[in-house]
Amino acid sequence: MRVHELRNAYPIFLADFWNDGTEVNGCMAGGRRYLHVNNNGDVEPCVFCHFAVDNLRATTLTEALKHPFFRAIREGIPYDGNLLRPCMLIDRPEVFREHARRHGARATHPGAETLIGELADGLDRRAAAWARIAEEAWCSGRALPMYPYPPGEEPGFVRPAPAVRRAG
Ligand code: SF4
Repeated sequence: MRVHELRNAYPIFLADFWNDGTEVNGCMAGGRRYLHVNNNGDVEPCVFCHFAVDNLRATTLTEALKHPFFRAIREGIPYDGNLLRPCMLIDRPEVFREHARRHGARATHPGAETLIGELADGLDRRAAAWARIAEEAWCSGRALPMYPYPPGEEPGFVRPAPAVRRAG
């Protein structure tokens, strides 16, 4: 991937939001590493997750972080350990549906509820298709994280570029 080529060419860490679960030990949502507050004050698990149980007009951020909804999200990570499937929204949509159902999370804008409604079947199919690929890649050991650095390596270590298969 281009991002791997750039990481190996420059002493910087370029974030690839959707593919860097390996670098942060899975999903960062629910206050594990961050959360998102929208312009209405709704405290959402992540910027892509438009559901909330708390609003900062009625509760503090500390209280929101302690809510069982956020606790459940944090405690579930990293699921079965495959960091190539870190996302409760698209890799494990059944996980988020259960969190939302159990804790009464409400959609924070019209249409957001489709994530756990009319889009659910499509997300499940997409997640299952990716799971087959991700399991093979994870079990093969081809997806080791760059950070933390390997034992004995100094900052500046760059992982050898992965083999890139090109069509044709
Ligand atoms: S829920 Fe998905 S998009 Fe949001 S932080 Fe977790 S892995 Fe990333």
